[in-house]
Amino acid sequence: MFERMAFIGIGLIGSSLARVVRRDGLAGEIAVAARTQETLDAATRLGLADRVTTDPAEAAADADIVVICTPLGAYGAVAGAIGKSLKPGAIVTDVGSVKRAAIAAIRPHLPEGVHLVPGHPIAGTEHSGPEAGFAELFDGRYCILTPEADTDTGAVDTVAALWRAAGSKVEIMGPGHHDQVLAITSHLPHLIAYTIVDTATQLSTDLQKEVIEFSASGFRDFTRIAASDPVMWRDIFLTNREAVLEILGRFTEDLTAMQRMIRRGDGDGLEDVFTRTRAVRRGVIDAKQA
Ligand code: NAP
Repeated sequence: MFERMAFIGIGLIGSSLARVVRRDGLAGEIAVAARTQETLDAATRLGLADRVTTDPAEAAADADIVVICTPLGAYGAVAGAIGKSLKPGAIVTDVGSVKRAAIAAIRPHLPEGVHLVPGHPIAGTEHSGPEAGFAELFDGRYCILTPEADTDTGAVDTVAALWRAAGSKVEIMGPGHHDQVLAITSHLPHLIAYTIVDTATQLSTDLQKEVIEFSASGFRDFTRIAASDPVMWRDIFLTNREAVLEILGRFTEDLTAMQRMIRRGDGDGLEDVFTRTRAVRRGVIDAKQA
């Protein structure tokens, strides 16, 4: 698919995609940029990089496609660094979890004739770094692309083909819509998990011990989500602020309604809600996203 491909950032997501590219021989050469030598050494050891550098511009120079896979907070600096070294006709794509902010950070730095095709694979784990990646991560999962209306269709098709090679189902939507959907499906659940686990850690020492011992009763599922990368999630909440606050407002109202049902002993009301939510789980299983 590509003569030269560049990854800026090679953690969980970047290294998983690089593994797919290696497995299927999709690129003649892979150049990798990261912040630390340790990560670059790991990428080399794992066979994911032909060239490594701490300079994103050096990795992106002459690449047919550049995939930005850093935390969102680094996007502005990364795009600023690579902008001048991109060749005409190159494609810049990314994997960031918030799309409006990703576009706002990258777009101003791209020269004429370079195609921006923002992307977001809806797949991940709570682990970070190049060792945590695996080629099957995207298999059967969705990847959302949020190109602007006037983006070159050939470039969009190329990025879509890359994700299909990774086993993903590709959906195209507007960046604002993406950010709203993800606020409810991903960002709010993470915020709730972080909050519950933090509440538990502030309990008295005795109770804290029991929370861990008896975690199989529900708590442990939240601890997995709350173990997600702190920097990545800091950036998600800072960049998708509006959509998260909007959905958080609605959630808080619904939580208050539940509180009232418990206080008033409204068993029918509670049962109604729990019956509706059980059907949602069946929908997730039927859609093979469980
Ligand atoms: P990660 O495992 O922590 O890896 C981040 C990578 O970016 C590392 O290679 C890091 O290099 C590099 N990096 C950080 N700051 C940099 C900078 N200023 N310049 C160059 N490289 C830099 O992160 P990840 O989980 O793969 O997440 C990457 C992106 O994917 C994020 O934007 C996130 O929103 C998105 N995403 C994540 C998930 C998920 O579940 N994790 C799912 C979908 C999308 P060093 O190690 O050298 O610091």
